[in-house]
Amino acid sequence: MEMNLGKLLVIGFGPGNEEHMTFRAKEAILESDAVIGYNTYIDIIRPLLTDQEIVRTGMTEEVSRAQEAVRQAEQGRSVAVISSGDAGVYGMAGLIYEVLIEQGWKEETGVRVEIIPGISAINSCASLLGAPVMHDACTISLSDHLTPWELIKKRVEAAAQADFVISLYNPRSGRRTRQIVETQQILLSYRSPDTPVGLVKSAYRERQHVVITDLAHMLDHDIGMLTTVVIGNNSTFMYDGKMITPRGYQRKYTLDSEEQQLKPHQRLQEQAEPWAMHQGGSQTKAEVASAVDLAEEAMTKVGCKESEHKQSSEFSNEFRQQSIFEFAVSPGIANKKISAQQMLSIAEIVGESGTIEYTPDHEMRISVHTDQPDEITSRLKTEGLLLLPIGNVVKVKACDFCDGEKRDAIPHATELQEKLGGLSVPKAMTIGINGCGMACYGATADDIGIIYRRQKFDLFLGAKRTGRNAHVAQLVAEGVEPDQIVETVVAVVEQFRERGLPNERFHKFFKRVQEINGFKFRDVPDQVVVDEVCGD
Ligand code: SAH
Repeated sequence: MEMNLGKLLVIGFGPGNEEHMTFRAKEAILESDAVIGYNTYIDIIRPLLTDQEIVRTGMTEEVSRAQEAVRQAEQGRSVAVISSGDAGVYGMAGLIYEVLIEQGWKEETGVRVEIIPGISAINSCASLLGAPVMHDACTISLSDHLTPWELIKKRVEAAAQADFVISLYNPRSGRRTRQIVETQQILLSYRSPDTPVGLVKSAYRERQHVVITDLAHMLDHDIGMLTTVVIGNNSTFMYDGKMITPRGYQRKYTLDSEEQQLKPHQRLQEQAEPWAMHQGGSQTKAEVASAVDLAEEAMTKVGCKESEHKQSSEFSNEFRQQSIFEFAVSPGIANKKISAQQMLSIAEIVGESGTIEYTPDHEMRISVHTDQPDEITSRLKTEGLLLLPIGNVVKVKACDFCDGEKRDAIPHATELQEKLGGLSVPKAMTIGINGCGMACYGATADDIGIIYRRQKFDLFLGAKRTGRNAHVAQLVAEGVEPDQIVETVVAVVEQFRERGLPNERFHKFFKRVQEINGFKFRDVPDQVVVDEVCGD
């Protein structure tokens, strides 16, 4: 009997047209001796059939169809069991396994089973709507044929609450009309009435029909057994008749600029993405201009979403699109003392959801959810705090000048902060300024170290602060006149900005270029090899 065991080919044929059917699905249909499936599905794949027998079970029950398929395979036939979309998504795949398991089937000894994946409705319908899925999404079948309605409602509620993009399968039939109405009610208690909704009927089939509407008006349109309903999340927006869900919820702001350095309309400029434009030299100026207009409109939409949402305030909106604002704060260049009032202001701004991180660079790094960074910066500045951008920028780190007792170098430190603090550089760098020869704040361990001694400055370049081969900076100049020090350091930083490679650390840059502003790099002897004795 084992000799002529057959095969079950469980095939998802995709939305319904041949172009969107996989190669393996077509091949498997040709390989089969018999085909089992709903009559409408058989009609869809009929052009692909050669001499396969169409098994008409005469039964509408899927379970009986699965049992018949298994029975025929056990008789040695190759049986294609066809589902629309993917056979593993509300299709026949699970049922086939259930029937087999009931009979004690094992892969090693039983009939062979191959599940052939297909494009499910969530994907085919999304492609016709624009890009509505993009982010975390789920599918929910509204059919209570095999699932209690109470459970389906719970799932709708949970998905609505968790801000999933939701794809509703089996939304309504002639008999089942209530479910989609209740579903809309549940969704409206978590999402704005203007949340985009896409209705796709018969995707990639003859009677394909696509509607883009919103949560409030979705029931004004025809929804049936061949429709998939795609509900946007709180970030989904409509644009030029398309439904689009952005990839991320949070855009980042830093103190000086948004992290996203190029906005979409800037990206469309040739100098920004030379590979993307004028590829065949065929694009006219007018076409470029209209692309820029479209991109600008899209940006406004993404930006506007927030304010639109604010107007419709009755619904819970905890997932509203928000930005993260990140920056560093310190009590000042020379001042290391922070007041209780300043701490209170920081605490209020950070609130429950933000974070404060104390860094090795004498500053607190703040991260808050906000779309009004200006309000935060003006409040903290009023409190007398120094706000600094983070990322690949210059950080000026001074000592406390012995609580102001050794104050001669303070004006220079302040001037350096004004001229260079926060300036963008190829890689983050620190400039340490210490007010006496003790250099107890460790200026020699900074990228640029400046130490005030006998009314003059010593200049150090290129420390490597971290790692096993950490080293202090090289003393490149002694006794620099106070009225020269600022412009000397500015010149060194300017060279780094001009000639440094992206992400190149300052000490590596110094070693590579060998000379900065006339200061020569001196090679340091290599590290001692500890294990040399054991080598041979
Ligand atoms: N296995 C299928 C789903 C079967 S449940 C798949 O993965 O897509 C049947 C439901 O699927 C329908 O009620 C409808 O909501 C959806 N559906 C299947 N094919 C579709 C198509 N071509 N266009 C729109 N919706 C479709």
